[in-house]
Amino acid sequence: MTESLYRGRTTRDWQAADAAHFLHPFTDFKALAARGARIVTRGEGIYLWDSEGQRIFDAMSGLWCVNVGYRQQPLIDAATRQMQELPFYNAFFQTSTPPAIELAELLAELAPPQFQHVFFAGSGSESNDTIVRMVRRYWALMGQPQRQVIISRWNGYHGSTMAGASLGGMPGMHEQGGLPIPGIVHIHQPHWWEHGRRLGLSREQFGLQAAQWLEDKILEVGPENVAAFIGEPVQGAGGVIVPPESYWPEIQRICDRYGILLVSDEVITGFGRTGQWFGCERFGTRPDLITFAKGVTSGYVPLGGVMVGQRVAQVLIEKGGEFTHGYTYSGHPVACAVGVANLRLIRELKLVERVRDETGPYMAELYRQLQEHPLVGEVQSCGLMGALTLVRDKGTNEPFAPEIDIAMVCRGHCFGNGLIMRAVGDRMIVAPPLVVTRAQLDEMAALIQRCLDLTLADATRNGWL
Ligand code: PMP
Repeated sequence: MTESLYRGRTTRDWQAADAAHFLHPFTDFKALAARGARIVTRGEGIYLWDSEGQRIFDAMSGLWCVNVGYRQQPLIDAATRQMQELPFYNAFFQTSTPPAIELAELLAELAPPQFQHVFFAGSGSESNDTIVRMVRRYWALMGQPQRQVIISRWNGYHGSTMAGASLGGMPGMHEQGGLPIPGIVHIHQPHWWEHGRRLGLSREQFGLQAAQWLEDKILEVGPENVAAFIGEPVQGAGGVIVPPESYWPEIQRICDRYGILLVSDEVITGFGRTGQWFGCERFGTRPDLITFAKGVTSGYVPLGGVMVGQRVAQVLIEKGGEFTHGYTYSGHPVACAVGVANLRLIRELKLVERVRDETGPYMAELYRQLQEHPLVGEVQSCGLMGALTLVRDKGTNEPFAPEIDIAMVCRGHCFGNGLIMRAVGDRMIVAPPLVVTRAQLDEMAALIQRCLDLTLADATRNGWL
C-alpha cells in the first residue's frame, strides 16, 4: 500500500521538490533547503518510517498529538464513513450536523462538571484566538467592558496566530509581526530550575512565589482591568516545565480573589497526557475555560475548540445576542466524527488510567535512572511528558557555554539513531503516544541513554566539558 502510494520518487526527488515549493513552519527556509528534509512516509503504533526505510521511535507523538498512536482503524473508519455520508457542512445559519453534536455531548461528559458547552475551532491557535474575544465579550456583557487585559506567562506557548503568539511568551515570536497585540501582558514562568533554584527557594516555596507574580501583576494593571489569566498546566513547547505542586492552587486562589477568569490551555495536556482527562484535574484548578486541539482527534485531522464553563456560558447564552465569531470549519463533520471515535477509543483502551497508574509512573522511574547520566542535571516528568536538563558539570549544575547548543547535538544523535526527541534550550523533551507499553518505554530509555553517551563523547572530544 505504502510503496504504491509513493512509488517512483526517490528521497532526493522528494527533497528537491520540497525545497523548491514548501515553506515549512518554524523553519529557516534556506538552511533546510541546503540540508534536505527528512521525508516521513508511514506510521504504525508508536513508530514512523522514513523514505529510506528507517524505523523511528516517535517519542513526541507527532507534535504532542497522536495520543492513540498511528493507524488506528476506528479513526480511519470514522473518517471514511463520514466523508461518504457528508464530507462538509457548516454550523452557521442555524444548522448543525450529527458528528458535531455528538462530539460536543461527549466532551461535556468527559470534561469537569462545570463544562457543558463547547465552541469548535480548527486548531489550538484558533482556540486561543477565540478565548481572547470570548472573555472580553463576557466582561462587556457583565457591564465591565474595561476588563480587557489578559495575563499570560513568558515562555508559555499558545499558538502562532496574532492573538495566540501574543498570549505566548516567546520573545523570538514577538519580534516578528509587531506583537504582542494590545491588552496582553506577561509574568514569569513557574520554572524552578531556571528561577527558583537561583533564588535559593525550595520547589514549593518557589511555586508560591511564582503565583505571587500573578497577584503583583493584577495589582499593577488594576484588578478592575483584568479579564483573564491563561496558562498551560505543564508548559509544553517551553520545555516540559512541570510547576511545583503549590503553584496552581495558589493561582486559583488569586483568580478567585479578584474574580478573574482562569483559562487552562490544554492543547497538549488534554485527553490523557498527564494521567487525567485534563491537566487542570491533575493540578487541582477549576478553570472557567479550557482550550483544546491535538489529542482530541489524535492529530488525524485538524480540530480544536474551547470548553466554556457555566459561569461564562450562562452569560453568553442568556444575555449575549450574537457572538460575531466563528470559522468555516467550526464543527467540521469529518473532524468531529474522528474526534468521537478517538475519544471513545481512549476510553475503551483505558489509556488515561494506564498513564496515571502504569506507564506514567514507570516513565518517571526510568527518568530517575537517566538522572544518573553525567550530562543530566535534572529530570522532570508528568504523566507521559518528560524533560532532561543537560549540564556541563553535574556537581555544580553549570550549563554548557551558550555557543554550544548541546541539546541540538543530542537531537542530531537521536535523529541518527531512530528516535524523535525535541530539544528546547538545554532540555531534551519527550511525550510518547499514550498507547506506549512498558517494553517500549524501556526501548525509549535505552535509545535516550545511547544518544546521551554519544553526546558526552562529542563533548569530551571537542573539549566542551
Ligand atoms: N497551545 C499549546 C499549549 C500548544 O502546545 C500549541 C501547539 N503546540 C498551541 C496552543 C497551538 O496549537 P496549533 O499549532 O494547533 O495552532
